[in-house]
Amino acid sequence: MTPVTHAAGRSIALFGLGGSGLVTAQALVAGGARVVCWDDNAGSRDKALAAGLAVQDLATADWSRFDALVLSPGVPLTHPRPHWSVPLANDAGVEIIGDIELFCRERAASAPAAPLIAITGTNGKSTTTALVAHLLAEAGRDVQMGGNIGTAILALEPPAAGRVHVVECSSFQIDLAPSLAPTAGVLLNVTPDHLDRHGTMENYAGIKERLVAAAETPVVGVDDAWCRAIAERLAARGRDPVLISVETPLADGFSLAGTVVELRAAGARVATFDLAGIGSLRGRHNAQNAAAAIAAVAAVGVPLDAIRPGLATFPGLAHRMEQVGRLGRVLFVNDSKATNADATEKALAAFPDAIRWIVGGTMKEGGIAPLSGYFDRVAKAYLVGASSDAFAQTLEGRVPYARSGTLAAAVAAAAQDAQADGAPEPVVLLSPACASYDQFPNFEVRGAHFRDLVRALPGVTPMGKA
Ligand code: ADP
Repeated sequence: MTPVTHAAGRSIALFGLGGSGLVTAQALVAGGARVVCWDDNAGSRDKALAAGLAVQDLATADWSRFDALVLSPGVPLTHPRPHWSVPLANDAGVEIIGDIELFCRERAASAPAAPLIAITGTNGKSTTTALVAHLLAEAGRDVQMGGNIGTAILALEPPAAGRVHVVECSSFQIDLAPSLAPTAGVLLNVTPDHLDRHGTMENYAGIKERLVAAAETPVVGVDDAWCRAIAERLAARGRDPVLISVETPLADGFSLAGTVVELRAAGARVATFDLAGIGSLRGRHNAQNAAAAIAAVAAVGVPLDAIRPGLATFPGLAHRMEQVGRLGRVLFVNDSKATNADATEKALAAFPDAIRWIVGGTMKEGGIAPLSGYFDRVAKAYLVGASSDAFAQTLEGRVPYARSGTLAAAVAAAAQDAQADGAPEPVVLLSPACASYDQFPNFEVRGAHFRDLVRALPGVTPMGKA
């Protein structure tokens, strides 16, 4: 844990006790702050009480005694409308911050030279964060990884000179961290997402821009117009961002030639990193993540040659193009995290042909029609869940399909068909392009069920994590 010592003696209101809130309250108390917590959910309040924290209704509290409101990133600061605690804090002149801000202030107070890598973007944050941490660990560095990826930042070991903190930041977390100034800041991409919580694209992109604008080494993916504009603004201010493109060759920065990530300076090739055969980094989108990770790790002083070996051993993240098993030539891939067509597009694009596509669930607007450009790669679709009628209609006459209904029936049929396929590497791909709620509590349970079904098939060699 990182005790928040700089807040010793201060009086803090904390709202939001799910996720990171409880740990944040404990880290504040451990550092000597007086903390009063609250949550609209009674179960979360009970957990805080059981942990020995002071729980009090902040709606009726005396706000003049608070120095700060620590807000959980899941609680709306601005859109669709500010949570009730926000105007109470504003009216009392109480600053509103999040746990990443507390970490940054602690770093500034106790170990300002401690390296910090912060990563944001609409897509690829978790993969890049995990890859950065993996590359650092493989290069022998002391690493702590947390933030949006799962472990609350204040649950990590404290910042220290020889220790690198790698932190995934959602826009909500950046919005609550005004002094976030990482050693390396990575912005992967910006596409419309979460606009219900950010209002406009300008606002959403503006929040993400802050992370790189304040970084010692900004790393920016320039394959979308929002990020290109951000990189241009940085360059105009003499900040010289490290640029990443997997679409266009760059004379300065990282770009992609086939499966090879190339780093060039003034047109000359400086280093190459071949991603061929690295299953966890399949696809162009993962080349963007890999290039950004290499740039960030290099920015904290790891030599390029010490980065290369770690790429090949990256295990990848569960439920994101996770290779879970092999049966002869057939590869089984769990992409359960793909809960919309955009994410599934990346998976379909990563395999040239012979895809046995398990698809369906609670349908998102637009369904799978936007994926029609990839239909010729699909040998057959196996429809599961509530979206089956709609998807059958989209696929009719274009892609052979079966109405499997359940994941168990789909895996059995797809495995059998794939084994009979003459292609060099047929793939059974769960990439549902749908939420899981019709049949599963969440995408993790859906993916774990797929993994179990695959590994129970006779003759399957399991791959990856247990
Ligand atoms: P995040 O943490 O930002 O949600 P993840 O690393 O968990 O991102 O990846 C989630 C999904 O997003 C992946 O399964 C893949 O479909 C897609 N994805 C990953 N990286 C990228 C990228 N760089 N650009 C576009 N899409 C991506």
